[in-house]
Amino acid sequence: MKIDTFNNALFDLLEECPTPYHATAYFQKKLSKQGFVALDEGESWQIKKGQKYHIARDGSLIAFSLGAKTSLDNGFRMIGAHTDSPSLQIKPHIRTSGSPYIMAGVEKYGGVLLGTWFDRELSLAGLVSCTSRDSQVAQVLIDFKKPLLYIPSLAIHLNRKANEGIEINVQEHVSPIFGQGEDQDLPDFIEILKTQIKKDHPDLLLNGILGYDLFCYDLNKPTVFGFQNDFLAAPRLDNLLSCHVGLEAICHAGENTNALLLLTNHEEIGSTSSSGAMGNFIDLFMARILKDPEQRAICLHNSFLLSLDNAHATHPNYKDKSDGDHLVLLNKGPVIKINASQRYASSALSASIFRLIASEVGVETQDFVMRSDMACGSTIGPLTAAKLGITTVDVGAPTWGMHAIREVTGVRDPQSLYTVSHHFLNRSTLPIAL
Ligand code: ZN
Repeated sequence: MKIDTFNNALFDLLEECPTPYHATAYFQKKLSKQGFVALDEGESWQIKKGQKYHIARDGSLIAFSLGAKTSLDNGFRMIGAHTDSPSLQIKPHIRTSGSPYIMAGVEKYGGVLLGTWFDRELSLAGLVSCTSRDSQVAQVLIDFKKPLLYIPSLAIHLNRKANEGIEINVQEHVSPIFGQGEDQDLPDFIEILKTQIKKDHPDLLLNGILGYDLFCYDLNKPTVFGFQNDFLAAPRLDNLLSCHVGLEAICHAGENTNALLLLTNHEEIGSTSSSGAMGNFIDLFMARILKDPEQRAICLHNSFLLSLDNAHATHPNYKDKSDGDHLVLLNKGPVIKINASQRYASSALSASIFRLIASEVGVETQDFVMRSDMACGSTIGPLTAAKLGITTVDVGAPTWGMHAIREVTGVRDPQSLYTVSHHFLNRSTLPIAL
C-alpha cells in the first residue's frame, strides 16, 4: 500500500474519532463493510470456520477471522492496541454562576501533558445518556466538530518566571471557557447538548438528558510537515496509529491463519475496567470460542501477540533523556520495546521473531530501553500476556511528544509498521523452532 494512501486513511480515522467510543463505532462500520459479522455479547454465537466477526464493549473491540485452511490448535496471530488517548474530561456540573463566563470543570483523563492544551480552539465529543419519549435510557455519540472551548495561558507580564517552568493546577488553571453572559441569560448546557443531539441523531425521540462522558479535543487537523515532508503531526497518534495498522492488517488477513485484533479502552488510566485489558473481555471471548479447556490451552500456547503502542523516539533537543546506546529515530522502522521489569512483554525470543519477520519484508527495526535511572512506562502487552499466557512482543512507531495534544511520528513509520503486521498475520507458520 502506498504511503500517502495509508496516511490519508489514518488522517480520516484521527479526524472522525475524537474519543474511544467514536473509534470503536468507526471500526465496526469498516469491519462490517469488509464482511466481518457483528456479534452481540448478550446472544449465543454460531461461529464458523472461514468466517470473520467483530464484537464491541464500551470503547473496546475484538475482530477475528478463522482461517479456512488452518485449525484453532495452531493458535491466533494477535495484534493488540488501545483505543483511548489522554484528554480532559468534563465534570458533571457546569459552572454557570459566580462568573461572567461559562466554564467547565475538568478532570485529567490519563497522563495529559497539560501545557500543550492551552491557547488553542478545542471541541467536545463523547457519549450522552438520554431518555427517549418512552422513558428508556439511550446512549448516543455526540461530536460538536467546531471550536467551542479555550484555555488561555496567563500572560508572561503576569508571571515573569513562566519560561522557567509553570506549575499547572488542574482544579484552578485548566477549566476551559466556552461562553459569556449575565446569570439570567446564560445558556443552559443541557439545552446546548440537546441541540447537538438533535443535529447528530435527527431520528431519536429525545426527552431528557441524564448524564454524559464528554472529552475535550484539539480541532487542528493532522498534517505532513518538514522540508522534505518527512514528518507527520496529529492528535491521538498514541494510539490510534496502532489501531489503524491493526485494523488494516486484519482486513487483509488471508485464509492460512487465525487472525485476531484486540483493541482495548482505558489503557491511559491503568486498564482496570470492564472493557480494559485488565477486565474479562478477552478471557471471556476465548472461553466462548474454545469451550473445551484442553483445546483452549493448546490454542493459547500456540498463539502470539504483537502488542502495538507508540514508542519514545530520541528527542534531538533532550538527548540526555535517552539511553545513548539505544537511539531511536523517526522513519527508521518499528521500535521493539524492552524492559527488564516486564513493563514491556518483549523477550529475546519474541523480539527475535519480530526482527526476523520484519527483515523478510525489508523493514528495519530499532530497540528502545529506558535510561536505567528513569522509570519506565507500560502498555497492554504485559497485561494481556499475563492474562492469556501467550508469547508477546511490544512494538510501536517512534514518536516525539507522547501525550502532548499533538504528537509527531515519521511519515514512513505507520506504513512500515503495517507492512510487518500484515506479514505477521499472513505468514503460513511462525518461525519458532520446536
Ligand atoms: Zn499508548
